[in-house]
Amino acid sequence: MSMSLDVHELPSVAGEQVAGKRVLVRVDFNVPLDDDGMIADDTRIAASLPTIEYLVQEDATVILMSHLGRPKGVRDERLSLHQVADRLSELLERPVGFVHDCVGEEVEAAVRDANPGDVLLLENTRFHAEDSANDPEFARQLARLGDLFVNDAFGTVHRANASTAGVAKYIPAVTGFLLERELQQLGHLVDAPNRPFTCIVGGLKVTDKIGVLESLVSHADAVLVGGAMAFTFLKAKGASTGASFVEDGEGVELARRIIELAEEEECTLMLPVDVVVAPKLAEDQETQVVPADAIPDGLMGLDIGPRTRMLYEARIADAHTVFWNGPMGVFEIEDFADGTRAIADAVAANPGFTVIGGGDSVAAANQFRVAERIGHISTGGGASLALLEGEALPGIEAIREAPQ
Ligand code: ADP
Ligand code: MG
Repeated sequence: MSMSLDVHELPSVAGEQVAGKRVLVRVDFNVPLDDDGMIADDTRIAASLPTIEYLVQEDATVILMSHLGRPKGVRDERLSLHQVADRLSELLERPVGFVHDCVGEEVEAAVRDANPGDVLLLENTRFHAEDSANDPEFARQLARLGDLFVNDAFGTVHRANASTAGVAKYIPAVTGFLLERELQQLGHLVDAPNRPFTCIVGGLKVTDKIGVLESLVSHADAVLVGGAMAFTFLKAKGASTGASFVEDGEGVELARRIIELAEEEECTLMLPVDVVVAPKLAEDQETQVVPADAIPDGLMGLDIGPRTRMLYEARIADAHTVFWNGPMGVFEIEDFADGTRAIADAVAANPGFTVIGGGDSVAAANQFRVAERIGHISTGGGASLALLEGEALPGIEAIREAPQ
């Protein structure tokens, strides 16, 4: 793709003397919450353990910060990181001190009182609007808490926030182990992937994923399209899409552009040939399989059909490198889960280098229990797509430009 990732040129926490230092670590504890507001999945907390455990072992004072949800600059107890501190403590098997804010007097005192080997978690950085605004004064206040900044939050590396980028203007900055691994693994897709390189792209919107679609079509040998976005592509090709979710106007225009680009770039762009339809997006509907270009009025396409599954499986089996983002259907409902399950199994069965990225796609991989057989599961949805697009990543740029 347009850029190459010089992961090796980035300073890593492994190369730092951290003993006795206060190390400010940006982690991604933006965990999904269930209807009762409890942690629904702690994968992201678990993923941060290697860096935290390393720093504890090396006798650093570990100060963790993260955002959770979108409180938009106001304190919202439902989005407090308090319960995350408890879960982290269980996983680490050591106490984690929770600090009720992320900047200010109380926080500075807590950090001053902490000893080497202690772990502190600061409150949600987005309780302050200055975090998302990348406010320099707020970043300076954060920077005061540490001698060294470690960015281990891959999921927010594409955002220029005070806690992901701004803080690195004031203190030396390095990558953590999770961030390093993400860059290395995703870097294999960007730098000379083994061919054939096949991508599967699904999920909701063409307009959301236009950048990555352009990039994948330009660099992969085949792009297999599924999910709701397939209907925008089918519409662009003149198909009757019934009541399927279609992004009329701009979406159809963009889909047309991708179809043309694929031809120019000699990328095989595959669209569904059959789809599972139902009268509405709900459980216990009467379903049927129809040709993808002739969906009857009043019916919506909610999964790829069995012939499409077979064609896609065969393509995936032939590939040496596979990247998958976006479910093939509404996999949350069993009647529309077969397409996504088939792709998950096919990616897992591929002996080459396989990567899954995207919040819902990773959830699907977990639901269908294939995660262990995947080469790399990216913890960052938007970030992994931004990286594949070749966008500059503010969190990475900030590390490169930090004072050393
Ligand atoms: P990811 O998080 O992996 O990038 P997206 O957020 O783009 O994926 O899309 C995931 C959502 O798309 C899922 O909630 C899924 O139910 C929905 N979806 C997939 N196919 C369809 C479809 N045919 N119609 C409506 N929604 C769909
Ligand atoms: Mg999603």
